Amino acid sequence: MVSITRRKSRQVKVGDKLIGGDAPIHVQSMTNTDTEDAEATAKQVAELARAGSEAVRITVNTMEAARQVANIRNRLAQMNVKVPLIGDFHFNGHKLLTLFPDCAEALDKYRINPGNVGHGAKRDDQFAAMIEAACKFGKPVRIGVNWGSLDPELIARMMDENGKLADPLEADAVMREALIRSALDSAAKAEELGLPGDRIILSCKVSAVQDLIAVYRDLARRCDYPLHLGLTEAGMGSKGIVASTAALSVLLQEGIGDTLRISLTPEPGGDRTREVIVAQEILQTMGLRSFTPMVAACPGCGRTTSTFFQELAENIQSYLRNQMPLWKTQYPGVEEMHVAVMGCVVNGPGESKLANIGISLPGNGEKPVAPVYVDGEKSVTLKGENIAEEFKAIVDYYVRTRYAPGAARPTKSRRKEIPIKAVA
Ligand code: SF4
Repeated sequence: MVSITRRKSRQVKVGDKLIGGDAPIHVQSMTNTDTEDAEATAKQVAELARAGSEAVRITVNTMEAARQVANIRNRLAQMNVKVPLIGDFHFNGHKLLTLFPDCAEALDKYRINPGNVGHGAKRDDQFAAMIEAACKFGKPVRIGVNWGSLDPELIARMMDENGKLADPLEADAVMREALIRSALDSAAKAEELGLPGDRIILSCKVSAVQDLIAVYRDLARRCDYPLHLGLTEAGMGSKGIVASTAALSVLLQEGIGDTLRISLTPEPGGDRTREVIVAQEILQTMGLRSFTPMVAACPGCGRTTSTFFQELAENIQSYLRNQMPLWKTQYPGVEEMHVAVMGCVVNGPGESKLANIGISLPGNGEKPVAPVYVDGEKSVTLKGENIAEEFKAIVDYYVRTRYAPGAARPTKSRRKEIPIKAVA
């Protein structure tokens, strides 16, 4: 049987959630509203949380943004949204966390980018001011290094040292080492300043897949802080999704990663919650966590020229996702259900039998009937105009009868979460 051994890491408490150790791998997201607009930001945080984000990061970039953080927290409380809120600080975080104690208190974690803390003599003092705020308010920090804002003094020094070696490394390798060194040195400095090691999470984000994998493998070997994964500036649409999935799935398969965020660029007017759904789908399709019932659907081909089965697959997937806020309170375990919507007799019955519930629609020239399979057995054959509604009713009945507390759980689900050993 396939299993994954998670890298051993410390455990960090963020709000009421645990990160690292044997805690589930955590989905995060970030708003793209102006934090000064508390109403819009609270609304988007709530949307991200309702989509399943287990922590939401907001930029805290100006005095007014810092002033609004407690207001955002209060608005979320009024909406009964309890998601941990992370403040993203660059350049002026030392000032904002000092001048606005209610902001420092309202946040559940601070993200500090060591490349954007300041330069020269000011750098250490400004970093220390942020760590002091974390100590004073009892908050964890993520030391989040980013390829695009790597400490220029550090990289210049390392390039210089490398140039003097008899056998110098490639510039890319020095850059990767500089990312890791920046994260580890900053974490060591934070601990020297009094921040306990179990309040530190690290990340080293880059935008190229192979670099990200190399950096995190090395980082994972060299420390036991929990690691936040993400391919930075992943991009738009399918490119962003594919690049993030390619990079993160390699690391997750190796047991590396305790939280993740998918940095998708939304299309204009696009839905910000997409990044949450993609993160969940990566974890769920890898068998690492379950969030919502999954639909297996065939791609279609010349055997089925109508779009009916595509529409049905989409309709069912949206239906399942929309039902989840209610279902997860009433039907524990329903997120592990698998549904198949298939286009014709070639693979339809086989795939449908592997799912908890499956439907095999008629392809071109087939008899216009759609057999439905429940727990691997043919149960009923649907026909006529109302196949979609009748199939949804069967799914609904299955959920009510199989996942209600005390009900006999499905015995036939060939796709289950794979075992994860908590620590190495
Ligand atoms: S199940 Fe049928 S319709 Fe779907 S891809 Fe396979 S052959 Fe084509």
